[in-house]
Amino acid sequence: MSAKVYELMIIGGGPAGYNAAERASEAGLDTVLFEARALGGVCLNEGCIPTKTLLYSAKIFDHAVHGAPYGVTFDGAKIDHPFIIDRKDRVVKTLTGGVGAALRAHKVEVVNAFAKITGRGAAGFEIEADGKKYTGRRLLVCSGSEAALPPIPGLRESVASGFGLTNREILALREVPARLAVIGGGVIGMEMASYFNSIGTEVTVLEMLDHVGGPTDPEIAGILKKNYEKRGVKFMLGARVTSVGTASVTCEYEGKTVEVPCDKVLIAIGRRAVSSGFGLENIGVLCERGAIVTDGRGRTNVAGVWAAGDVNGKSMLAHTAYREGEAAVRDMLGQRDEVSYDSIPSVIYTQPEVASVGLTAAAAKARGIEVIEKTVTMNMSGRYLAENEKGDGVIKLVVGREHKNLLGVHVIGGYASEIIYGCALMVERQMRLSEIEKYVFPHPTVCEVIREACYSIR
Ligand code: NAD
Repeated sequence: MSAKVYELMIIGGGPAGYNAAERASEAGLDTVLFEARALGGVCLNEGCIPTKTLLYSAKIFDHAVHGAPYGVTFDGAKIDHPFIIDRKDRVVKTLTGGVGAALRAHKVEVVNAFAKITGRGAAGFEIEADGKKYTGRRLLVCSGSEAALPPIPGLRESVASGFGLTNREILALREVPARLAVIGGGVIGMEMASYFNSIGTEVTVLEMLDHVGGPTDPEIAGILKKNYEKRGVKFMLGARVTSVGTASVTCEYEGKTVEVPCDKVLIAIGRRAVSSGFGLENIGVLCERGAIVTDGRGRTNVAGVWAAGDVNGKSMLAHTAYREGEAAVRDMLGQRDEVSYDSIPSVIYTQPEVASVGLTAAAAKARGIEVIEKTVTMNMSGRYLAENEKGDGVIKLVVGREHKNLLGVHVIGGYASEIIYGCALMVERQMRLSEIEKYVFPHPTVCEVIREACYSIR
């Protein structure tokens, strides 16, 4: 009897892989998925979901501590960090269990082992996992990303000793460090700075650039930083970290060498695609700067091989990975589908939340598009005023000058993470302001401000 040939083999059980597996199986493809660690990938196990669990506890605590302006005071509000970590573990377990159950329900075969691509034979691509051989007609690589650890002296050693933490270790940390240095003021850096600031840690953010929040609109990034400065987070912008010791981080800052003493260091300076060590070279898959090169349908340079999620280095967001996985499966099935990278929303789950979609004014300019930028205060919203004493939330629209079509939306303030979804639809369709004005926004909500902003651009 000849060995079984799968119609699709998927490497990686994160959002790209597990979603693609379900879609493929639904469409009738006999699918096997390999996952060496836990189903759910970084997002469910050591990224999006655990972080949000921690941040929600911090939010409740912050409301308790800072309720006086709203006529609510608590005496002796406490936050129990080890309890929060245990709860986070339960949430993660429920969700990863759910992914396993969904894959079983979809009749996807799951192999809990490291998969190595060994080559290509007459029947298809060949994989070895847990001492067994698997053959498949198609391959979808969803191997994800890992924390970047650049060659800064002492950095890797710090992770080995437990003084330095990546997103993985910090989400399992049971003790509360008195002082935390955060290298990198991007998404992970700001979300973790927010949590540890809430629970009483003295936080210093060392960021190489002159702003936090990575590609976030500069005005919004400035408001974010101001909010956290008020809460006591220290920022060292333009700081270039030169070494990590055993009880401090050293950087070049404002022309001087400065040592920042701390009890733990979070290393949040970006992520790199996981594209080596599992045999991509054995089938000739092209990588550039460590990421698999794909088109908008997930196709690689090798016919029959697709890639989706962080491994393509494009957007490194779980929701993009989800979408890329399904686009790749549709392509395998001969259905036309392409990921639209210009309207992917992104969120930073700080307090206030930051969310954006589409172009910033600077990005539009770089593409030679003339735009009108309009920033509107959220204080125009009755709900926002009711819920925020001295709030400084804003919504900024980036609009094409010629057609008055919406190209970008940038938000800081309550509910930003939920508002941005509607904005993504508008940006994807490049809706004209005159069209948006005709939609009814619920009242009283914060998103009503978008309509007001449209009317203010004439
Ligand atoms: P990031 O790219 O968002 O930010 C890294 C920051 O580190 C940048 O601002 C960079 O200038 C700075 N930096 C780099 N080298 C430095 C150095 N030597 N010294 C000081 N600063 C330095 O990366 P991240 O925060 O590590 O996040 C990784 C990925 O995970 C991102 O792609 C992000 O989108 C994703 N993520 C998303 C969410 C979310 O959607 N809410 C949450 C967490 C992570």
